[in-house]
Amino acid sequence: MKALVKSRAERGLWIEDVPEPQTGINDIKIHVLTTAICGTDLHIYEWNEWAQQTIPVPLVIGHEFVGEIVEIGSNVTDFKLGDRVSGEGHVVCGRCRNCMAGRRHLCAHTRGIGVNRAGAFAEYIVLPMTNIWHHGSEIPLEIASIFDPFGNAVHTALAFPVLGEDVLITGAGPIGIMAAAVVRHAGARNVVITDLNPYRLELARKAANVTLAINPRETTLEQVQKQLGMQEGFDVGLEMSGNAHAFRDMLANLSHGAKVAMLGIPSPSEMSIDWNQVIFNQYTIRGIYGREMYETWYMMTAMLQSGLDISKVITHHLPWNKYEEGFAAMHSGNSGKVILDWQKTA
Ligand code: NAD
Ligand code: ZN
Repeated sequence: MKALVKSRAERGLWIEDVPEPQTGINDIKIHVLTTAICGTDLHIYEWNEWAQQTIPVPLVIGHEFVGEIVEIGSNVTDFKLGDRVSGEGHVVCGRCRNCMAGRRHLCAHTRGIGVNRAGAFAEYIVLPMTNIWHHGSEIPLEIASIFDPFGNAVHTALAFPVLGEDVLITGAGPIGIMAAAVVRHAGARNVVITDLNPYRLELARKAANVTLAINPRETTLEQVQKQLGMQEGFDVGLEMSGNAHAFRDMLANLSHGAKVAMLGIPSPSEMSIDWNQVIFNQYTIRGIYGREMYETWYMMTAMLQSGLDISKVITHHLPWNKYEEGFAAMHSGNSGKVILDWQKTA
């Protein structure tokens, strides 16, 4: 089968013919229809330090996808051929304390598809049946293909109650923008999102019905609070930039007792903060990784069924073999989600 493979320990990604994956008795084999490019894929493409330490070469990469079932392991009874499905990208051990307690997103031995094991940028992928999410026909194919990052957004956005709250989101990447749409849908009052990139700020305004999308170098959060008539700071912060300045700025503009969910991945050496703010203002800070299995998937589906629209976060649609163009768009920063269509070849 055709696949996009990290076949060499250097910058780049290559189209290769690789053997189709085998379907074990507890597995599902999926014919991949549509995929999306994640920032992680970009890191693997660029071959940064994290990628060099993490990715076994050669590896089929990619983890954001939707497809249809073409083969079913002999132990599996819940699915049928032709079902449209995505896969939860974290394959868990099933035996550690958290797995045994049903908290599979906290598995001690979790392995990522397209990172630690073969991924989805291929004609076929095989996954354990416990990783399969079935989509109803009301979920458009391209939206189904971004359930993985949409799930990051939902997991973070709903980490704390937002009904009636003033929410600050730092970082208007695709995930920050989807999180803005989610907190709006969930009843937040003011939704303010920040970014340094004008393209992304404009996309946030178009795609997420935010109250304000601002460049913190041009408008301070103190000014934003005044403009919106806020007195005591933001009630909930969603950190989605991975940037230390953005995080420090957030901490300085929260109300006492505020809640912060952190998804953005910072460079460890830069992330110093004034811990006195956290202590004296009694903040709660919570790290977020991946999606909850499978409450986040349930909430994504339920919100789409009840009118949430995230479609405008998708800005690029390309046939899969034009992936270089897609990676370049992601690299430029002037993109939302980039879709690779596996049913078309350029
Ligand atoms: P992205 O890189 O597309 O978006 C980050 C945005 O932050 C960019 O638009 C960038 O311009 C902006 N930014 C940079 N400095 C800023 C500043 N000082 N103030 C405001 N904005 C600033 O990434 P994404 O795909 O939207 O993901 C968001 C973050 O979440 C990334 O850090 C990513 O690595 C991380 N992530 C974490 C998980 C997880 O499970 N924890 C999963 C996926 C992604
Ligand atoms: Zn486990």
